[in-house]
Amino acid sequence: MTRPTLRCPCDLSHCQAVFHYDAPPPGEVRFDIGEQTYRRSYLRCALCSHWFSQNSLDLSHLYERTYVDTTYGNNFRETFERILALPPERSDNAARVARVLAFARSYLASDKTPTLLDIGSGLGVFPYRMKEAGWMCTVLDPDARAVRHAERVVGVNALIGDFLTIDTGGIGLFDVISFNKVLEHVVDPVGMLEKAVAPLSREGFVYIELPDGEVASCHGSNREEFFIEHHHVFSIASLSLLIERAGFLMLQAQRLHEPSGKFTLCAFLAPKSTMPATS
Ligand SMILES: [Zn+2]
Repeated sequence: MTRPTLRCPCDLSHCQAVFHYDAPPPGEVRFDIGEQTYRRSYLRCALCSHWFSQNSLDLSHLYERTYVDTTYGNNFRETFERILALPPERSDNAARVARVLAFARSYLASDKTPTLLDIGSGLGVFPYRMKEAGWMCTVLDPDARAVRHAERVVGVNALIGDFLTIDTGGIGLFDVISFNKVLEHVVDPVGMLEKAVAPLSREGFVYIELPDGEVASCHGSNREEFFIEHHHVFSIASLSLLIERAGFLMLQAQRLHEPSGKFTLCAFLAPKSTMPATS
């Protein structure tokens, strides 16, 4: 049984099961769950409107092979090139790059080349476009093929590993750390996000994107925001709680309806520890 947590003091005591699934909704990737019966649900917290996935399926092998195979196919390069070829108005990534560059222009000092660490880079379309914009980019991914693809095709520095367990002491400092649709896939997103404080440069910021459960749920339970690989689906309130509990301050947050159809929350954050002290 996976027990997703947002480290809430209410300890899920205000949660109610709202969505139930006994078969994969249309469009969900068919993961190999072996002999197990497909059954899962989402609890919704009446206090913060956060959605917690509840399922007794053993998904521990999801990211070892099947996730990458079924999500990207065997050909990273082909999928990478197909996404890069999308016209900007149809590309979630083009809008993301524009958002991050605009925020960075107003927030970072302009006299040096900015550095980016992209966590869970997958195909690497985001660091590829950031590299084109003149940034120094590094990616971190637990999948060896994603890392090889990042080095050879995307042309950026690549680290293999799970950000949750990696020793951040040895990876250097970055001006921007990004988590694009990553934190909803982990059981303890607060634990993962708080690890971004240490490798962030003093003037740096973190950029996150998460599925928006508040808007998506208005369109029913079969939306991709509620697919099996999401342990968490967020609200504006639970996005704030995540950021607060991980030791960050929200600088800006936004609700998006992306060109792909996804309902998404995005936010820019800075560690509370780097805020100027008031006396
Ligand atoms: Zn809660």
